[in-house]
Amino acid sequence: MIISRTQTENILLNNKNQNNNNVIITKPERVKYVKPAKIVPHQFEIAWFYVFFLPTIHSIAVYALYLHFTKGIGGWSELGLNVYYVSANILCMFGIIAGAHRLWSHRAYKAKWPLRLILGALQTATIQEDIYEWSLKHRLHHKFSDTDGDPTNISRGFLWAHIGWLFFKRHPTYLAKVPTIDTKDLLDDPIVKYQRMFYTFWVVLVRGTMFTAIPRLLFPHESWTYLVAMNVLFYVILLHYTWLVNSVAHMFGYRPYDKSIQPTDNTVLVYLAMGGGYHNYHHAFPQDYSGSEYGWEQNFNPTTLLIDMFAKIGWAYDRKKVSAEIIRMRTKRTGDTTALRRNASMAMDVVLGLLILYWPLPVIYGRKRNRDWENDLYFFKHKTKDECVLSMKNTIQNQIQTVILVPWSCRHNRPQVQPQYLHKSLQLKCHHNRHKLKRFQTMQNFVSFMKSHTISPILHTLLK
Ligand SMILES: [Zn+2]
Ligand SMILES: [Zn+2]
Repeated sequence: MIISRTQTENILLNNKNQNNNNVIITKPERVKYVKPAKIVPHQFEIAWFYVFFLPTIHSIAVYALYLHFTKGIGGWSELGLNVYYVSANILCMFGIIAGAHRLWSHRAYKAKWPLRLILGALQTATIQEDIYEWSLKHRLHHKFSDTDGDPTNISRGFLWAHIGWLFFKRHPTYLAKVPTIDTKDLLDDPIVKYQRMFYTFWVVLVRGTMFTAIPRLLFPHESWTYLVAMNVLFYVILLHYTWLVNSVAHMFGYRPYDKSIQPTDNTVLVYLAMGGGYHNYHHAFPQDYSGSEYGWEQNFNPTTLLIDMFAKIGWAYDRKKVSAEIIRMRTKRTGDTTALRRNASMAMDVVLGLLILYWPLPVIYGRKRNRDWENDLYFFKHKTKDECVLSMKNTIQNQIQTVILVPWSCRHNRPQVQPQYLHKSLQLKCHHNRHKLKRFQTMQNFVSFMKSHTISPILHTLLK
């Protein structure tokens, strides 16, 4: 139920009268979805590139999950890899929110070239079009919000605003509005200009380095196929984060600053988009460098914290902030006074924020593993495969007590003996594996056991 201003004021007044301590306790009311403007049906032309591209990357992302859950080697190494990917994604989000969005699209603050270079590189790694294109679309998104001049026009529905718009060529209204947007400032910035000029080259270089080459250096036992697939998986995750701002944050949530527009302040997106979820405020005051009424001290906004940190060393300056008085006046005039204006405890916010930002960790890492072998990974780094195999044989001889519990691998490919297979075979052949295997004191005993139980052909070859 939407409560009218007068009704709300009455409730507040009643509460005040009833409470001896004069503490007004009011539960913010979620404002119902504002009915979208009438849309004129239009026959959109299909954008074939995206018709192939988007399903392809989503399929690769699913394949990455399949590889992860069936072939992952597990253990601390796998956890480390996931922490790396989630953290790299968070860094990339700074490139979008602090860079393409607040700096380039809105000019909400100014930045010296080293900061622009860092943000530009991080934005490149997100593969969400170059800064020029991103900012142009975003300026149109603001100027012609929720109409056909806005590429992600929410009036055409949730799916359209989230992903649907990418499958089609732009609406004629959008094309007609493009020349009305001043983009001269963007191309005057050499970082934007040269990023656009050699965009594909930079994408391959930066994305390839950050999401495949560095992980391969840090976790050399992971295969190239797996790392490329994980690269795509995290690309898809970040794409959806950005798209959620266009869909969810234009449909569900509170409208404390302007209840006549679609954008909302959405609590989940506040965390997921690192301070980009105060979208009702942002559409009411797009020039604010904090993208919210408050700074990072009063509510979850790591992007503002980052900009403030760079301001300390002088790399960010001229940060524009809307005065409290103007916000109060605007809120009074157009806002929904019953809606939540976030100003939460910082400690709680940080805990919640980290939990939400790092959600892929428990989800991705949460698969069952065999504890016996995961702590005993032997990894061989010799030059040739023969040397690796020799070392493995030696390890078998030296560690005969534990050999069955050890998944071994070398850098020439993924585990030579698949740990799952090894373990499964053992479960079949030897019920209380660890205890029973302690009987084998010599190599000969061990080999004869292997032969009689026909465990693994690969293991047999190794033991010849
Ligand atoms: Zn918006
Ligand atoms: Zn914006």
